[in-house]
Amino acid sequence: PPDVNTLGRATWTFLHTTAAYYPPTATPAQQSSMRALIHAVGEFYPCTWCAKDFRDRIAEHAPDVSGRAGLSTWMCERHNEVNKRLGKEVFDCARVMERWKDGPAD
Ligand code: FAD
Repeated sequence: PPDVNTLGRATWTFLHTTAAYYPPTATPAQQSSMRALIHAVGEFYPCTWCAKDFRDRIAEHAPDVSGRAGLSTWMCERHNEVNKRLGKEVFDCARVMERWKDGPAD
């Protein structure tokens, strides 16, 4: 099975960076593509219990695919739910663009 921590860091990097570079205002076609991408993560993420939890979270909080700011905040909140569950520090979502817009620091 994959290393859940390495996979997680790589996946959050992809998801937050993709949200940070998503169009400021997404067209309906872009919104449905992004919705499909998020659902596909829930379907294919190769940590099965992580994927199940992500599907539950998506069902509770519909993805905000309206544009960059909304999607970045939505993604940050979902990541924070995982952080809390794992006893990790909660991230200040006001800093999400600063963290991810110019690429990860690490
Ligand atoms: P990560 O949590 O991977 O974070 C990487 C970097 O992102 C941090 O250094 C920080 O700079 C930044 N960051 C932190 N929080 C936020 C935030 N809220 N918004 C924006 N940026 C932030 N692991 C499990 O053990 N069990 C699970 O059920 C589980 N579910 C997961 C579900 C998904 C969809 C994903 C992508 C990962 C999941 N993981 C799960 C992995 C877990 O979230 C971490 O990636 C892993 O534990 C490694 O943590 P880390 O401390 O290296 O930092």
